[in-house]
Amino acid sequence: MFLRTRLALTLLLATICAAAALAPARAARQSKQKVSLILTNGKVFTADARGTLAEAVAVQGERIVAVGTSREIAARYTAARTIDLKGRLVTPGFNDAHIHFLGGGLSLLRVNLIGAQTLAEAKARVAARVKELPAGAWVTGRGWDHTLWGGQWPTKRDLDEVAPDNPVILQRVDGHVSWVNSLALQKGNVTRETRDPQGGEILRDAGGEPTGILKETAGNLVANVVPAATREEMLEALSRALAEARRYGLTSIQTNDVPSFEATPLYRELLKADKLTVRVAEWQQFDRTVEELKRERAEFASQKDEPLRLRLTALKGYVDGTLGSRTAAMLAPFADDPHNSGIPRMSPEQLTRMTVERAREGFQITFHAIGDRANRMALDAYAAADEELLSELNRALKQNRDETLRRLGLPNTPSPDLDIRETVLRQRRGEPCGAPACVEIKGLPRHRVEHAQVVAPTDFARFRDLGVIASMQPSHAISDKRWAQDRLGEYRVLGAYSWHTFMAHGVHVPFGTDWPVEPINPYLGLYAAVTRQGAEDGAPEGGWWPEERLSIEDAIRNYTAESAYASFEEKEKGQVAAGMLADLVVHSRDLLTVPPREILQTEADITVFNGRVVYERKGDK
Ligand SMILES: [Zn+2]
Repeated sequence: MFLRTRLALTLLLATICAAAALAPARAARQSKQKVSLILTNGKVFTADARGTLAEAVAVQGERIVAVGTSREIAARYTAARTIDLKGRLVTPGFNDAHIHFLGGGLSLLRVNLIGAQTLAEAKARVAARVKELPAGAWVTGRGWDHTLWGGQWPTKRDLDEVAPDNPVILQRVDGHVSWVNSLALQKGNVTRETRDPQGGEILRDAGGEPTGILKETAGNLVANVVPAATREEMLEALSRALAEARRYGLTSIQTNDVPSFEATPLYRELLKADKLTVRVAEWQQFDRTVEELKRERAEFASQKDEPLRLRLTALKGYVDGTLGSRTAAMLAPFADDPHNSGIPRMSPEQLTRMTVERAREGFQITFHAIGDRANRMALDAYAAADEELLSELNRALKQNRDETLRRLGLPNTPSPDLDIRETVLRQRRGEPCGAPACVEIKGLPRHRVEHAQVVAPTDFARFRDLGVIASMQPSHAISDKRWAQDRLGEYRVLGAYSWHTFMAHGVHVPFGTDWPVEPINPYLGLYAAVTRQGAEDGAPEGGWWPEERLSIEDAIRNYTAESAYASFEEKEKGQVAAGMLADLVVHSRDLLTVPPREILQTEADITVFNGRVVYERKGDK
């Protein structure tokens, strides 16, 4: 009895003690919110405008729920998985604002001539592929750069030597010139009688025979008879491209896949299978008719994709070619080719008319423009569209004030003499808006220029005043600097690849790569933006036109927050902040403090996409 009582008492006591000991811990645990993932003990670059740093991030599902010190996050959250960053740097996932994702993937499956240092090396790579193929099969590839071989265009004969029985078409590194062999010319029916197509040129020898170099639209004469990639090839290409993206911490792409919509069903298929580990913003082709574009958009919308994973954004058009091929449209001839000022793809009148027509339908437009003339043509076209929009709003305001204010999401109180054009200009310039007409006009267009490589000095401010985005690819500058000065001369080179000047003017400058024109590697772009030096040799000392260098903080922001702005998604992603999508990358080195050369050696250790760890570098603990 006694024993039993004692035992019971002991048990009771033990229970009470255990309960007392557990109580605070349980209470604390209960008050903590359960989340799916915590990254802690790191250095979090949030990419906000003030350059805020934090230590830890809590993620629930696909969104970030909190950002703070490691202690704050530990006090408030427990996670299914916690990653100790051991001091490593975290940034938002990279967002490549200009990429050819399918083309890049396909380039991984084809003859790759990137970095071929001699004509002989290029021929050897083609010969190797010819050996793997049956006679008659097409050999396709890209990446050659004759400026590495002394600047002479290669010819069909070079290819005939290594591919006598296979048609060959090889795109230059910039994608704007095709190098073909005799059999390919024959298949495309290109002879001495063939006339140059509009916006293109067939190079001919002294006797009038095509040499095998087809510039700009002339390349289509042959490209159009090459059998299209099969569905299986394209899926394989995309899955390889996705693996590359994960490896480089790339979580969003703004992609120009030509022809548009060939890749769309494949992206959709990958999304449904939960294999699409980047957010895709696809572009449509500017030169389709308005009816076609609207139909494409309606078809796309009817699929009810998740718009934050797969969406349509801009219409992509071309104003000119490239500097490397001397097809960029210039206000004055090339310094090293005094009778040539490039090839505009259409007349200014046609460009403006088509732009106004499409902008009126609410499409975001983006133009490939390299030369100063092409950039000015793009700005003139946007100015016409802007003028139409703003005067229409002013007119509507006069005629039906309440309805128009409602449409613009404005309070009913702005001053009676509110001038929309004036207000918008102040807004774009970041000027105080001047009460009592102090309102913010939302939903304004964000037209873009891709590359914006050579810009006349007076045109930088026009980008800002028209609210036009300059979408740039820093690695182009360090690839092109070898010959850019020869092409442009001493004066114009000052306005070339001028991302710092753009930003100083208050222009939005998202960054990208143009893969497969340049490598997909975003660290190369960051390095180029902050050093303006060659990746191999670190030359020139101090950087090429060093006043255009950026801080690493600005370069990262351009690659994340600014790229999100370019696709109207800056409220959803591009910063590490509560409520934003959880796309994050953990870097192997501290980009903010390492010497610039080390940016090139930096790798993504961990890539988090949509709240999920989708990549961990082998050998990384
Ligand atoms: Zn491109």
